Amino acid sequence: TTPAPPAEARALSVRRDRIQALRRVDLTVAPGETVALMGRNGAGKSTLLSAFTGLVEPSAGTVRVGGATPHRTPPRDLVRRVGLVPQEPRDLLYADTVADECAAADRDAGAASGTCRDLVGELLPGITDGTHPRDLSEGQRLTLALAVVLTARPPLLLLDEPTRGLDYAAKARLVGVVRGLAADGHAIVLATHDVELAAELAHRVVLLAEGEVIADGPTAEVVVSSPSFAPQVSKI
Ligand code: ATP
Repeated sequence: TTPAPPAEARALSVRRDRIQALRRVDLTVAPGETVALMGRNGAGKSTLLSAFTGLVEPSAGTVRVGGATPHRTPPRDLVRRVGLVPQEPRDLLYADTVADECAAADRDAGAASGTCRDLVGELLPGITDGTHPRDLSEGQRLTLALAVVLTARPPLLLLDEPTRGLDYAAKARLVGVVRGLAADGHAIVLATHDVELAAELAHRVVLLAEGEVIADGPTAEVVVSSPSFAPQVSKI
């Protein structure tokens, strides 16, 4: 039997309050594959990421990570399957220094000591051990959150707007690290409005509109051929 894919949604519908946030979404992400979720504000990108982490539950259909149902999987099992870098990593605002944060990340992930710190060094050169996350820019904090999540090397990595607040050099470093992860076989799903980032990283773009998948294909094809994409591109 073939192993279960890192991420799989089948006819997935999710309601949030009175809103139908996702409608019959089908999506399978294979190991080593990078998928960009695109679409306007409110299209359902973050909700789909939340479904893969068990933060929201289906109203119909199914969602699985490595064959497991995320909202019924205990956290200690779930962190071995999926890592999420949220749009606003608030927890880090209250954390201690970068060194403390990284030591905790190594411990939680059962990783060799220094694993997280090496990742931070790669992504955020110039940050010192004593730096406090609250003194970092939004983009740097997001990058630190990414390093913490990567320490656990989850087979499925979910990134919500990972380039928000990053300058050109920081974005290039992030692209390098994410490409390396994909080459190592990690499945990656990123929600983004950044067409350039999607073109650089994604093998496939899934375009959402009002909770529905309206296009799914190679990045260039979806970006060029989808009529509903045009207004969004012109906005960027
Ligand atoms: P953005 O690009 O702004 O992040 P998105 O594509 O990620 O948008 P979602 O955040 O998934 O879109 O929102 C999908 C729908 O669900 C929207 O109608 C939104 O208002 C609604 N929604 C999102 N979060 C919640 C929540 N916590 N409670 C209720 N409704 C929500």
